[in-house]
Amino acid sequence: MDEILKVKQELERTKTELGILYEVSNAMRTTLKLEEILYIILTGVTSHTGLGFNRAMLFLLNDKDGIIEGKMGIGPDSAESAGGIWKQIEQNKMGLDDLINAYKYSNSVLETGFNQQVRHIKVPLKESAGGLLALCALEGMPIQLNKETIRKFSADPIVQMLNNDEMVAVPFKAKDKVSGIILADNFVNREAITKDDVRLLTMLANQAGLAIENSQLYEKAVTRAHTDSLTEIWNHGYFQFLFQAELDKAKASKEPLSLIMIDIDDFKVYNDMLGHQAGDSILRDLAKLIKNQSRKMDYVCRYGGEEFTIILPVCDKNEAFLIAERLRHDIEKYHFVHEEMLPNKMLTVSLGISTFPEDAATASELISVCDKTLYKAKNKGKNNTCC
Ligand code: GH3
Ligand code: MG
Ligand code: MG
Repeated sequence: MDEILKVKQELERTKTELGILYEVSNAMRTTLKLEEILYIILTGVTSHTGLGFNRAMLFLLNDKDGIIEGKMGIGPDSAESAGGIWKQIEQNKMGLDDLINAYKYSNSVLETGFNQQVRHIKVPLKESAGGLLALCALEGMPIQLNKETIRKFSADPIVQMLNNDEMVAVPFKAKDKVSGIILADNFVNREAITKDDVRLLTMLANQAGLAIENSQLYEKAVTRAHTDSLTEIWNHGYFQFLFQAELDKAKASKEPLSLIMIDIDDFKVYNDMLGHQAGDSILRDLAKLIKNQSRKMDYVCRYGGEEFTIILPVCDKNEAFLIAERLRHDIEKYHFVHEEMLPNKMLTVSLGISTFPEDAATASELISVCDKTLYKAKNKGKNNTCC
């Protein structure tokens, strides 16, 4: 009788586990956005109808820089705040799919201090550093730490941050190479991590590896499609999209939006004297300079041949003028190769500005106004900014 009961229980558990894996992989198939994929994985690891860990973190390997980077952490900031959140989930009878869908309406679950903390983690990807994550990534095997074994990692800043004596780290792969790690623990209820927990987490991590790889390839392809191959800034098509999107935002929030258009002075002369390849290299340098000198929230784009645009959200005309003038001076001061060939003996640009709402209300009118002010700057003798 005991035997039958045991088999029955095991069957039930397998059914539940398959259900969890099925739901998580189904959800992952609905999106290619990395951020959403990570959220789905970690929700699967932490939800009470999923694997039920108290909190979980996801790290990705950055081979280029030889580091492991924290990408997302889901879990309460403290045992006290856990009670409230979990009660709410229970009261609303939120299953795994409800929690996953909740992301589309609000991602408040990512506004925790815990998530911020995780996103700041960067650790070296080498064994000599002695960290738990590096060891897990290099060995490509799950590592489960308990009261005894955790002592070996007492100097690891991540182990210190988690402030718990039991945790499990599971690697996941893309093309047979470890590409990331999921780290989970039960810091609130202090429940022991079982063999089954680790087995299920490993299965989920395998699915995660594939989904993350697909989404990274997709995001790379999208970025490439929006990027100008010569200058590596946004291309004309994406500029049009971004400008409309920012204009819609500006209208909704009743904030100003400015556009700066930049055209190199006498660039044809430079090309004619030194050839188009030399001209191309100027375009690359100039794009880099403009990008470095603009605000983090601005979008720098290549509008056409030797014309650039900068979209400046939440920026009125006065501020845009100051930014444009500062940029014009920076370009004047910068030493471009063979700029002495140019009529002014240096490479300069002319700039035009238009601002929503005072100049126009549609994207195409704002671009047209900006274009006109640019020509005004050219007519005033170039190396000028006009509004
Ligand atoms: P202006 O001061 O009036 O702007 O004179 P300009 O010679 O710069 O004239 P315009 O703005 O019409 O610039 C067009 C020239 O820009 C033509 C071409 O020589 C150069 N140009 C446009 N696109 C490229 C490019 O992709 N590579 C290179 N090397 N040159 C380009
Ligand atoms: Mg031009
Ligand atoms: Mg020009």
